[in-house]
Amino acid sequence: STPGGPRAKEEKIVVTVRLRPLSKREQLAKDQVAWECLDDNTIVSKPPPQERSAQPASFTFDKVFGPSSLTETVYEEGVKNVALSSLMGINATIFAYGQTSSGKTYTMRGITEKAVIDIYNHIMNTPERDFTIKISGLEIYNENVKDLLNAESGRNLKLLDDPEKGTVVEKLVEETASNDQHLRHLISICEAQRQVGETALNDNSSRSHQIIRLTIESTLRENSDCVRSFVASLNFVDLAGSERASQTHADGARLREGCHINLSLMTLTTVIRKLSVGKRSGHIPYRDSKLTRILQHSLGGNARTAIICTLSPALSHLEQSRNTLFFATRAK
Ligand code: ADP
Ligand code: MG
Repeated sequence: STPGGPRAKEEKIVVTVRLRPLSKREQLAKDQVAWECLDDNTIVSKPPPQERSAQPASFTFDKVFGPSSLTETVYEEGVKNVALSSLMGINATIFAYGQTSSGKTYTMRGITEKAVIDIYNHIMNTPERDFTIKISGLEIYNENVKDLLNAESGRNLKLLDDPEKGTVVEKLVEETASNDQHLRHLISICEAQRQVGETALNDNSSRSHQIIRLTIESTLRENSDCVRSFVASLNFVDLAGSERASQTHADGARLREGCHINLSLMTLTTVIRKLSVGKRSGHIPYRDSKLTRILQHSLGGNARTAIICTLSPALSHLEQSRNTLFFATRAK
């Protein structure tokens, strides 16, 4: 058994879907809305379907957030419990998964902000513990790792195997946040640094993964000879566009062409699928990509995971949206 109480219900990966509104551009192009949220758990492709499809039209998840939902609601109902477990020493990871332009960055930035507020509220309300919050940020582009807190780091940091910590990124800068303002500032440096890459390399954000990692340590002084310490990571992961994971068609076999497969994203989807199947799923290929190596200790085992799958409502994106929902279904 583990700290944190009953686990049976908490052990699985929390999978939610967020449908964004049609964008101005999509409206101007007279794109149609292809999806509808039936209730808090169900999303359906909108009738009438032009053709009879063999694919299921209705998908069920832990939560489904419609186009008018606030990021605050997505945080409260889909992320908060997972994120806050990191305050109790349980590693936690929040992913945004979806095709380019579906709302990953929009959602992940808002989620990160909400989590920072919650973390510092918890610290204020827990005076008996001393907390230290550290932050690091990195980007994985083409299996090259770059430090988002150190513009001089170059773009190919090495991964090392540490006997105690597992995989660590060599020379990755880790800053200690002196307060919530300082932490927000450091997060904004990471976000700005990612945008620099985006401008330099055409369409960088659709190909790269961003990880913002908070390391949360706390010590409880119960009495002079009893000290309990917790340490855990909380990872916010804004993934590369999922169009780079869909190697096969929805019906299984056909190879997609003209679309570069992203090794880290492919490996992550395999790892998540195996973790969702449960303990007896055999070998989990964490070591096959940089992303999964870096996150290995925050995935599976005694770790908690929330995946927010972001979805464009546009009919023109129907196939990619279906692929996202198939991934989300397999992750449950
Ligand atoms: P991605 O990171 O998946 O490529 P973005 O987060 O950049 O996508 O979102 C694409 C565009 O859609 C941005 O202009 C963003 O502001 C907007 N957008 C995304 N999600 C929402 C939402 N839930 N509500 C309103 N606008 C959104
Ligand atoms: Mg983005």
